Amino acid sequence: MTEKLAIDGGTPILKREDYKNWPVLTDDDRRFVNEVLDSGIVAGATGPQAVALQNEWAAFTGAKYCLTTCSGTAALHMGLAAVDVGPGDEVLVPSYTFLATASCVLHQMAIPVFVDIEPRTYTMDPAKIEAAITERTKAIIPVHIQGCPADMDPILEIARKHGLHVIEDACQAHGAKYKGRMCGTMGIVGAFSLNNLKNLCGGEGGLYITNDEDVLRKGDLVRYFGDECNEKTLRQKYNASILGYMYRNQELPAALARGQLAHLDELNGTRIANSEYLSAELGKIPGVIPPHCPEGCKHVYWFYAVRFDPKAAGVDAEPRRFRIAVEKALAKEGVLVGQWQTMPVLAQDVFQSRIGIGKGYPWAINEAQGVTYKYDVNDYPVAKMLCESYTNVHSIHPPNGRELNEKVVAAFQKIFADLDAVMVHADDDVQPGFDGRLYGVG
Ligand SMILES: *Cc1c(COP(=O)(O)O)cnc(C)c1O
Repeated sequence: MTEKLAIDGGTPILKREDYKNWPVLTDDDRRFVNEVLDSGIVAGATGPQAVALQNEWAAFTGAKYCLTTCSGTAALHMGLAAVDVGPGDEVLVPSYTFLATASCVLHQMAIPVFVDIEPRTYTMDPAKIEAAITERTKAIIPVHIQGCPADMDPILEIARKHGLHVIEDACQAHGAKYKGRMCGTMGIVGAFSLNNLKNLCGGEGGLYITNDEDVLRKGDLVRYFGDECNEKTLRQKYNASILGYMYRNQELPAALARGQLAHLDELNGTRIANSEYLSAELGKIPGVIPPHCPEGCKHVYWFYAVRFDPKAAGVDAEPRRFRIAVEKALAKEGVLVGQWQTMPVLAQDVFQSRIGIGKGYPWAINEAQGVTYKYDVNDYPVAKMLCESYTNVHSIHPPNGRELNEKVVAAFQKIFADLDAVMVHADDDVQPGFDGRLYGVG
């Protein structure tokens, strides 16, 4: 006999109190934050915490140079500006990612051209890159999505062949490795986010890494109004040499990120152990497809996404309807699940409407020459399929461990044993998801 599902009035397997919140705060965080308060230095490119974080992140990744920034988006934008991507240039980005991977291109008056993803890793599909290259293409931004390294060897090879810059969006991949190489160090620039959700948390902030001295210098200028410093006095000249922004970080977030960095390997270890346990157990359930970690890679599981296949589960339903029904039944069991991105990036209104900057810029730059940009979701079948069929399981972040994840597995087993009952409730008014406290938001 099957247990009565919570969605049918049975007892839920989990309570919100079973979940512990991210980030994990320790005495190291308190020590570094107190250093800021004791020093009275709260800002500045040469602030002790910012400089220490830069040195520590360069050492951790093996990059030559690092700059702290106010966000991962800022680091991406600095990278594009530093390699001279400009108006009308095209930049290849994956069809499934966070908006910022593509919007940073718009901020540089360049045009994002989307490349569909691989069906197993959900990262940019190298086999689809060359068809998207034109004489206007200047750069590629592969994304190490959810902590899974993009397939960098073929991407770097295509970039070399066509003379394109590679800027890695490693905002979700602190400590991830591709065939022994640290994510963020294989392109000309690596960009990381320090926002509250990410594997390395500063509250907000970002990190920009490069091995190229010119790309460091240009990035540094873009980071701070394009204004140079007098080399002798280190004072600002108040004479901007190029267009820049205000993308600096501050001492308090830098201090928190340092405290977190002292534990990054251990925190990633917990994510990996929780994820591997889930994959081993959930992978036994017909119709549940766990995330894939490519051979020779280190996946750091920023989020843990599973896909559902109704056919394999023996259910006659559209993938989207099946996924929604399963999410609702899991939510009723107390399992915190739900989607992150709900559509391929290019389906968002900003791309569909082409409002952008002013009247239709930057697209209008090339459209005036007869070039068209379609942004048709049907041209990205893998991202479309993923968005119909995946959900994130929010139980892998530390300090959560085996105890919580065993209950998550039990809930999956319970509802997959009674899918007829699950499908009856497909249209119930249940809103899966999580509260902000789970990831440190007030
Ligand atoms: C978080 C994230 C960003 C942006 O980082 P912010 O610090 O929020 O600006 C960019 N790309 C990806 C893939 C991200 O997940």
